[in-house]
Amino acid sequence: MTVPATYAVAPTFLGIERRDRAAAISIAGIPFDIGTSNRSGTRFGPAAIRQASRMLVDGAHPVHWIDPAALPLADIGDFDLALGDIPASLARIEEAAHGLSHLVALGGDHGVTLPLLRAIARRRGPLALVHFDAHVDTWPDTFGQRYGHGSVFYNAIEEGLLDPRRTIQVGIRSPMGRDIFDWTIARGVTIVPAMEIHETGPAAVAARIRDTVGNAPAYLSFDIDALDPACAPGTGTPEIGGLSSWQAQAMLRRLEGITFVGCDIVEVAPAYDVSEITALAGATVAWEYVCLLGRAVADGRMRLP
Ligand code: MN
Ligand code: MN
Repeated sequence: MTVPATYAVAPTFLGIERRDRAAAISIAGIPFDIGTSNRSGTRFGPAAIRQASRMLVDGAHPVHWIDPAALPLADIGDFDLALGDIPASLARIEEAAHGLSHLVALGGDHGVTLPLLRAIARRRGPLALVHFDAHVDTWPDTFGQRYGHGSVFYNAIEEGLLDPRRTIQVGIRSPMGRDIFDWTIARGVTIVPAMEIHETGPAAVAARIRDTVGNAPAYLSFDIDALDPACAPGTGTPEIGGLSSWQAQAMLRRLEGITFVGCDIVEVAPAYDVSEITALAGATVAWEYVCLLGRAVADGRMRLP
């Protein structure tokens, strides 16, 4: 069989041909952006991430030595949403995620994470969380909207979906009320400011992530605005002083021992992007995650159905 050039690969994630819901790892888009507080447009994130992912199909991961083409992956398309209705959309997202064995979701604004956590916690109990973001997203409401994208982890903690003592937020740097910060810390959440990564380095922070999560089942939620706007301008709420792409990769590649049960990459808004660099960053984070899973399976630390 002739392998097509990257630009001619099918516009699914990594050109995956399998589309059914029975695969061990499913990729799905969630084109939802009506809970966003500033610039909208992440509804076009899934398509942009899939398109940019075609840069990643021509070989194995150069550290994990996993070729995603050899993994049991399906791209099951985009979830169905209720136009203009946040609670109804969240219910549809939870329903669509239910029954999938392991989901890698492409957002969409950060609000999509709440129903994804509900779907997993329903069968596994409270989860550990590795959360990359410029924002803590623990505001009790987002400009009056209870399920806005700035409130996802407030709701997740209040609903008992997370174990806050095994929750770590990495890259935090936005303005916030001291009461929001104090509430989050008082729950037991570990906050790692972006500056700490710059000053202590990604290896030290990766060790803090592994120590915080331990061996609990863990979810990875990667808000692309964790990256600096120089590396990821295509997002709705950019904050300067953020991570370089390489710093995020250096941390993700060191999370090998963690038992991940699901992942999302959110807040890619292509309308504000330049030369697809944000979409490529989002696609690469998803690829890093899939290869991390592949490594865990190859090493016998994880079994896929
Ligand atoms: Mn966020
Ligand atoms: Mn954010």
